Amino acid sequence: MKNNFLEIKNVDFKIGGKIKVKNASFLIENEGDTLCILGPSGIGKTTILRTIAGLEEIEKGYIKLNGKLISSKDKHVEPEDRNISLAFQDNSLFPHYTVEKNILLGSQRNKTKKKKKLSFKKIIHMLDISKILKKYPHEISAGEAQRASLARSLLTQPDLLLLDEPLSNVDQSFKEEIQVRLKKILSNLKITTIIVTHDSYEAFYLGNKCAIVLDGQIKQFDDPYNVYHFPNSIEVVNFLNRGILIPAKVTGENSLENEDLGTIKGNFIKHYAKGSNVQLLLQPEDLEHDDKSNLKLEVVDRKFRGTNFIYTLKTNSDLLIPVFVHSHHEHQHEADEKFGIKRPINIDHIVCF
Ligand code: ADP
Ligand code: MG
Repeated sequence: MKNNFLEIKNVDFKIGGKIKVKNASFLIENEGDTLCILGPSGIGKTTILRTIAGLEEIEKGYIKLNGKLISSKDKHVEPEDRNISLAFQDNSLFPHYTVEKNILLGSQRNKTKKKKKLSFKKIIHMLDISKILKKYPHEISAGEAQRASLARSLLTQPDLLLLDEPLSNVDQSFKEEIQVRLKKILSNLKITTIIVTHDSYEAFYLGNKCAIVLDGQIKQFDDPYNVYHFPNSIEVVNFLNRGILIPAKVTGENSLENEDLGTIKGNFIKHYAKGSNVQLLLQPEDLEHDDKSNLKLEVVDRKFRGTNFIYTLKTNSDLLIPVFVHSHHEHQHEADEKFGIKRPINIDHIVCF
């Protein structure tokens, strides 16, 4: 049987004597892969990282790294003997050291005999922190501190790197660039990583797999494409802010009927018997605007989102439906106007609950 690089099986993650995430199982198959953990604030994401790092003990299930048992009811390898590096959520730079000295602590802790070593110079360049090396932590911004702390963690080149919301304070304009560079560094050096993030697009970009933590459990563990297109529960749909759920009746192999919108065609991702009443996931990109259509809905609101407008439309039975329209569309519709929707409605993957 193939060994998974990191295996977490039936673990109750606990902090302060209370179970926060129950009976969790997830894994990282290959060395060098990245797993992203997503979930609302306070759900237990940091607790999961602390436990994997060995700062919290477990009483149920086990954690194996590289085939070796590191946590279970009867076994607890000490944090310093795990070669796992945890970069804390809050700035954890030492206040009395310069940024440079703080980062260099990382290379001192580097215990690896890996062939590919990461050079200090290169990482400084990639994370764009050369200008702040001589400064002290109180003299830099929160985003700079995060990048410095990320540089330090990367330089340790651990067997497993745990990053707790590493880019949450980095400016939006610079964040995507840093994400690209981080992905490059992690894959060049084959550093196996778990990244906790709030940002689903960051998780989808960086993760080979995503674990979504909701209601005290790992609600979905899957690759980013599946998490996005095949959310496994209403909770995941709502958490990812994917769209709205509307009542519909299954009318055939490829069709449903909604009272206000009429026939909806497409491919079901799961089979439902004809006549079933379901909740259908409707996303802003599913509906197409058409001024000539006889299906007219009332405009309640319009948000400008750069390349798109998102219109909120009201149906006869008071459902509020979001619709994307390209902002180049020649005329705009004001609130209280009517807005046409192309018929029949076609949805590629039909997701129902
Ligand atoms: P997240 O990282 O998802 O925001 P945490 O793992 O930090 O969540 O915390 C999960 C829950 O456990 C929170 O409600 C938090 O208040 C609580 N908690 C965190 N640390 C402790 C602690 N040392 N003792 C008791 N409760 C804690
Ligand atoms: Mg946290």
